[in-house]
Amino acid sequence: MAEVRTVSAAARPLVLVVEDEAALATMLRYNLEKQGFRVDEAVDGQEALMRLSEATPDIVLLDWMLPGLSGLEVCRQIRRRPTTRDVPVIMVTARTEEQDTVRGLNTGADDYVTKPFNMEALLARMRALLRRANPVSTRGRLSFHDITLDLATHRAHRSGRALSLGPTEYRLLEFLMQHPRRVFSREELLNAVWGADIHVEPRTVDVHIRRLRKSINATGELDLVRTVRTAGYALDADPI
Ligand code: CA
Repeated sequence: MAEVRTVSAAARPLVLVVEDEAALATMLRYNLEKQGFRVDEAVDGQEALMRLSEATPDIVLLDWMLPGLSGLEVCRQIRRRPTTRDVPVIMVTARTEEQDTVRGLNTGADDYVTKPFNMEALLARMRALLRRANPVSTRGRLSFHDITLDLATHRAHRSGRALSLGPTEYRLLEFLMQHPRRVFSREELLNAVWGADIHVEPRTVDVHIRRLRKSINATGELDLVRTVRTAGYALDADPI
């Protein structure tokens, strides 16, 4: 049962909506939840940074004009943090700020929409960014670097060699391959792979990461699991 919940939670992307206009935030939550997203909210920049520390979203909708810390500064911080640097960000700007959007894109936003925006257009942009960030193949296979996962048969291969993985290592690898290069904390991995309501020590994650490494890395092969000191783990072919 826990596995079913894990799969459905992973399939429902988490959006962080950073918006100080209550009516707009409510409208966004309503429409995004209707479309199958999970929604986290923040009313200002400080709260946004707090939410980002608690759970890494799959995508951020970031209002430009916020009380206190501006959306631009929040975006900078998102790009600076190892756990969030690859999370897609859509800036939401008012029409008068449109000439500033170039500045927003330079700061690391992936796209922007101008208020008042069309919900369908926003959803299309969100889906495009999520597809780019989570390259799940429609043929039921996931690939990263020289590893492939067959989601139907649960078979894993690296450079054509069959990998022998325990069930937990398989789920861990599948989750990491759905979000390549994203850094996840031990708590995030526990929630995603073991389920939020199951009590497991965060150190358990280290044990299974060690087993995963042993299973996927043959002698002389590049270690595709990156350990980020204090932050967590990522699947990454770039050692830095
Ligand atoms: Ca605003």
